Amino acid sequence: MVRCSVCGREFPENRLLRCYECGKAYCPECAERNPTIKELGVCPDCEEVFETEEDYWEWE
Ligand SMILES: [Zn+2]
Ligand SMILES: [Zn+2]
Repeated sequence: MVRCSVCGREFPENRLLRCYECGKAYCPECAERNPTIKELGVCPDCEEVFETEEDYWEWE
């Protein structure tokens, strides 16, 4: 069992989504509230970093 990083409840590993940047675990319910983890595979925190990096590359 793995603990959801957001709500702290435990779920089987295969039901959780993980941020591929920081490894935070999201249960299906918390993933519903954080669409970035479902759509992009990263949590909202890491998505900000992601976007910042994209902006940076546009400057080149
Ligand atoms: Zn949760
Ligand atoms: Zn993350």
